[in-house]
Amino acid sequence: MYDFAIVGGGIVGLSTGMAIFQRFPNAKVVLIEKEAAVAQHQTGHNSGVIHSGIYYKPNSLKARYARQGNQSMKEFCLEHGIDHDICGKVIVATKQEEIPLLDNLYQRGLENKLKIRRVGPDELKDMEPHVNGHGAIVVPQAGIVDYRQVSEKFASLIEEHGGEIALNTKVEKIYEESDEVTIESSRGSFKARFMINCAGLHSDRVALAAGYKTDMKILPFRGEYYKLKPEKRYLVNNLIYPVPNPKFPFLGVHFTRMIGGEVEAGPNAVLSFKREGYKKTDFDARDLAEALTYSGLWKMAGKFAKEGLEEYVRSFSKKRFTKSLQELIPEIREEDLIPAPAGVRAQAIKNDGNMVDDFQVIYGKRTIHICNAPSPAATASIEIGREVVKRLPKLTNLKETALIV
Ligand SMILES: Cc1cc2nc3c(=O)[nH]c(=O)nc-3n(C[C@H](O)[C@H](O)[C@H](O)COP(=O)(O)OP(=O)(O)OC[C@H]3O[C@@H](n4cnc5c(N)ncnc54)[C@H](O)[C@@H]3O)c2cc1C
Repeated sequence: MYDFAIVGGGIVGLSTGMAIFQRFPNAKVVLIEKEAAVAQHQTGHNSGVIHSGIYYKPNSLKARYARQGNQSMKEFCLEHGIDHDICGKVIVATKQEEIPLLDNLYQRGLENKLKIRRVGPDELKDMEPHVNGHGAIVVPQAGIVDYRQVSEKFASLIEEHGGEIALNTKVEKIYEESDEVTIESSRGSFKARFMINCAGLHSDRVALAAGYKTDMKILPFRGEYYKLKPEKRYLVNNLIYPVPNPKFPFLGVHFTRMIGGEVEAGPNAVLSFKREGYKKTDFDARDLAEALTYSGLWKMAGKFAKEGLEEYVRSFSKKRFTKSLQELIPEIREEDLIPAPAGVRAQAIKNDGNMVDDFQVIYGKRTIHICNAPSPAATASIEIGREVVKRLPKLTNLKETALIV
């Protein structure tokens, strides 16, 4: 019998495993992952940005955990020698009409207690000489890292503490009883006193398998990227973002210098026909049927018809993708861009068609379900793990140590 079973070996499941050992150093823990290695889905296909928390509603979980997570992620990387760079980013108003939106975002950043600066076009040019902008916010706290590397370190720390990582093991059924949880998988069953669902793109299905019917469903949104040809990397110094549409939950195509030196451009956001569908042609009958018969999808499509269509056009037309990027850097040409691997975001959508904006966790009797952990959950992962573990009840035969918060 395990004390804790974690479903999902992405950055959130792994950080939860680490946090368990910080509180219960002698716990018996198993982390169950269906793939042959950790960090194979959202965690291994993201932009690699250590976000600051500027965008999020003050006091929301996203705002709090991103701000604290920004700090804890940097500390973790320093402590474990993981390559990262707190290079800062600029959020740019490319048209005069965007200045009021930029100023609103600046105010939000101040409310989120961030030390940021509002700069004019000249100072912006000093920082990013190729960017066209009427003004910008400088966010010095933002940085870059490889979250796959961070996750591998989390995994090795779990194993050092005696935790088991069961790879190639897909969770299929869950029976939550009064004193234990039985988890049936493709490789036999596990019994644990508590289970934490960190299944990302499948978190709603895992919750349902445990008997938790929610008023939301995970829909997969593919984010497609290009990268700049090596000889064009000089066009981007660090991280260059547009002012986001405040009504749309995605940040808009941007430029990201990656920790390995490449420069990525993207991502857009289109509904994927498969939950883990990284190519345009990827298709899964069950995933697609579930999405298309979900009333929340159609209600959402009604709200974002214009934005959704633009995302699709950008997906199929490199010319249109380039045009969006040219708003930030007019010198970019179609031939400067090479296709790069895509990622798929897990976004919870409610039955009424609204996107679940904040992180969402359901606390059951013996199971906990992290049902919505989209961006900036990689940045915030250490904080999410700590918070979940803080809420675990005391277990009688387990010695606790002070949880570092
Ligand atoms: C394109 C893109 C760009 C992003 N950019 C950033 C960024 O720059 N900064 C940032 O902070 N965040 C970013 N994010 C968000 C961030 O990557 C995610 O929020 C985070 O990785 C979520 O981690 P997770 O562990 O919840 O999910 P995942 O990494 O998806 O892990 C879930 C795991 O559960 C496993 N699993 C699922 N079902 C089962 C089952 N039945 N049995 C066993 N295992 C199962 C899966 O195989 C998977 O490994 C981005 C995301 C995307 C997609």
